[in-house]
Amino acid sequence: MNYYSTNRQTPAVTLKEAVVKGLAADNGLFMPERIEKFEPSFFQHIQNLSFQEIAFEVARKFFGEDIEEPKLREIVYDTLSFDCPVVAVTDKIWSLELFHGPTLAFKDVGARFMARLLNHFLEKSDRTVNVLVATSGDTGSAVANGFLGVEGIHVFVLYPRGKVSDIQEKQFTTLGKNITALEIDGTFDDCQQLVKTAFLDEELNRRLTLTSANSINVARFLPQSFYYFNAWARLKAQGVIPSRELVFSVPSGNFGNLTAGLFAREMGLPVARFLAANNRNDVVYQYLQTGKYEPRPSVETIANAMDVGAPSNFARILDLYGNSYEKITSAMKGFRYTDEEIRQTIRTVFEQNGYLCDPHGACGYQALTEALEENQVGVFLETAHPAKFTGTVEAVVGNGNVPLPEKLAAFVKGEKQSVPLGKSFPEFKSFLLG
Ligand SMILES: *Cc1c(COP(=O)(O)O)cnc(C)c1O
Repeated sequence: MNYYSTNRQTPAVTLKEAVVKGLAADNGLFMPERIEKFEPSFFQHIQNLSFQEIAFEVARKFFGEDIEEPKLREIVYDTLSFDCPVVAVTDKIWSLELFHGPTLAFKDVGARFMARLLNHFLEKSDRTVNVLVATSGDTGSAVANGFLGVEGIHVFVLYPRGKVSDIQEKQFTTLGKNITALEIDGTFDDCQQLVKTAFLDEELNRRLTLTSANSINVARFLPQSFYYFNAWARLKAQGVIPSRELVFSVPSGNFGNLTAGLFAREMGLPVARFLAANNRNDVVYQYLQTGKYEPRPSVETIANAMDVGAPSNFARILDLYGNSYEKITSAMKGFRYTDEEIRQTIRTVFEQNGYLCDPHGACGYQALTEALEENQVGVFLETAHPAKFTGTVEAVVGNGNVPLPEKLAAFVKGEKQSVPLGKSFPEFKSFLLG
């Protein structure tokens, strides 16, 4: 299947090209040429399939023409070496726990899939591929760990100095090997801008093979649709749906996760609606209210992985719905929360339901409490383990109430290694070429 650019100023490309290039030559985002629907009968029996089996069926719809079945199955099964369970929090609200992977955030799914797909495409090449990834916290660790030790690939993680939690930082600055962490004197948006500019720089692209592992990459973003199908299946198995409608609430920053959910719905997954839960970085919320999209610089919040002022995947949402404000607002509704509201939600859910949310998941939970209608149940995406934000969460629920999982403790013991850089592109470019 070919992939076209949301800007439509450049010819469509193959899957391999879309994955290796990341961003289209006209600065647009790649979109699959077709979104194939499942037959309704698929949903009658989906609860009998395992997560891996469901994910493979979904993957075939996108990648089946380009990757032979056994290889694709291997990539999918390898990627999903951990579960994404659906856990009841109230009688109407479930948490889709996406933090059981190696770096305890949902980005493990897309990053592991992409690393395996890229490795498959590059098997016979002898040029080093440089993966550039800007991170507001969790992308860097998921990508770095997903690609760690993969031959022929070098990963550069760009992150804003002082704006990610200590644990997040340890997860990508302590690895060594083929991973280099660049500590940028700027914001996440500055990091993202450096990466975007690098892809458009002719000299850099002549001398180096560059690719992106941000959610702009189709190999990272499409696999995120897997767990929406699985959540639906698990709730159906419990008899919760389809007698009641299902609403997904997605804590959103760059909107890759939510867009993957919209794709799942286009493939026929019966979802009543998506809630886009934002922190104070609310440009999509404002768009959903007014029809005006006005990106602006991000502000810092305690849900820092959502501190995005110009969400990349918004271009995909516009494209998916042919720029129709009416269609977009019927598929999704926006919510936004201040740090104080987020803290309040973490406290309430912990005290009343004994469930510990991280600051991002808390936004998703809160939106459901406001939006669910009589005949609806809701699933919020618990996008990271609360222990990744121990300081913030313990300040709310009390010291000692956020146990550190073993996987995280192992990272904390490592020693940070990073290269400090300014936010100017020439400095970044000469570092890459040097
Ligand atoms: C990346 C991230 C988000 C935002 O996801 P997008 O796909 O960029 O919208 C939310 N929560 C956590 C914990 C994240 O790491």
